Amino acid sequence: MSKLKIDRVELTAFEIEIKNVEENKSGIGIIYKPGSKNKHLRFGIKIFDNEGNFGEYIPPRGRAKVIMSATQALSYHIIGKNPLDRLSTYRDLRGLCKHIGEVGIGAIDIALWDLAGKKYNCSIMELLGGNRNKLVAYASTMGGDREKNGLSSPEAYADFAEECIEKGYKAYKIHGWKEGNVAEEKELLKAVGNRVAGKIEIMYDSACHLSTLADALEIGKICDEYGFYWYEDPYKDGGVSIHGNKTLSQSLSTPILIGEHIRNFETSVDLILNGASFFSRADPDYDGGITGSYKLAVASEGLGIDCEIHSCGPAMRQLMGASRNSNFYEVNLLHPKCSNPWSLPIYLNHYSDEINCVDKNGNVEVPNLPGLGIEYDWDYVEKNKLHKAVIT
Ligand SMILES: [Mg+2]
Repeated sequence: MSKLKIDRVELTAFEIEIKNVEENKSGIGIIYKPGSKNKHLRFGIKIFDNEGNFGEYIPPRGRAKVIMSATQALSYHIIGKNPLDRLSTYRDLRGLCKHIGEVGIGAIDIALWDLAGKKYNCSIMELLGGNRNKLVAYASTMGGDREKNGLSSPEAYADFAEECIEKGYKAYKIHGWKEGNVAEEKELLKAVGNRVAGKIEIMYDSACHLSTLADALEIGKICDEYGFYWYEDPYKDGGVSIHGNKTLSQSLSTPILIGEHIRNFETSVDLILNGASFFSRADPDYDGGITGSYKLAVASEGLGIDCEIHSCGPAMRQLMGASRNSNFYEVNLLHPKCSNPWSLPIYLNHYSDEINCVDKNGNVEVPNLPGLGIEYDWDYVEKNKLHKAVIT
């Protein structure tokens, strides 16, 4: 057994500037706002061991304040551990988090997988035994806005779907206005369905904004009419009700997808076994890193079902590349008039999750450098640094 020991963890908080979007504070999320310029917090983690191996990760999405704090609190507990002992680290950190939520585990686990990949000179996908270099992607829209040239009408969404087809995408997921307006959302689904059903797979994600199960059923009937590929987080149960989503599933032919708002693969498996969701949902950032998410992908495969990976980034690509039972890579959040706020300016070697990241067949590549497959621009991080914590 190796004598490797983690001897240092560095966490760096930094800012990125994101143009033409703003964060809607009422839970609607990021939406298009032309002319706006805002600073957003992100953080990076580096884990070093006593023999000079290191792993790194920068979670692409927001909520960095909470996630960085949780990651920092857990980092004290990995000092002295063997960095290759990811399974027991995952379990130990789960134990430490049991009353407070596991959101800090993901970044640590992903950086440890990156370290292992760098040490063995192969990608995380290869470490997991995968060899799928191309992933079929879906264009996942930003939430709707009220701007003149934005995603502000059903026709604008339908136009954008056609634009995505031209770029090569094979699937298009609609995030609507998220205001619980059933009539408006119905018009949106009909406009997109009338224009592109049969030319591209269509998904709809209510993001838990429809008020009632009855509203969800009404919208679901439109999904059925146009043969939608899936119907995601239909209503305001928080995306967790087994009975409610099972009831909805039994009334619709469109497959239901819930699970991105629950944590840990054991809970996800219970959700599936109880008939609440057609697919399982894994997110490496939130579900215990590659370790926790891969467990869910394999558990799902054992149940004979598919595991759809949430959102975009190098960790998601590595995980999906190693998962036989995953259909689409989510290029999230796309908009016709602004760049993807989750595609950060911190990647070297042309890695991107912008709208043009797909080839003419709608595929993205699994990056193939060791570990996460990419290189980070730490000069950018340093230049935009706010503060740094070093844990030894
Ligand atoms: Mg979603």
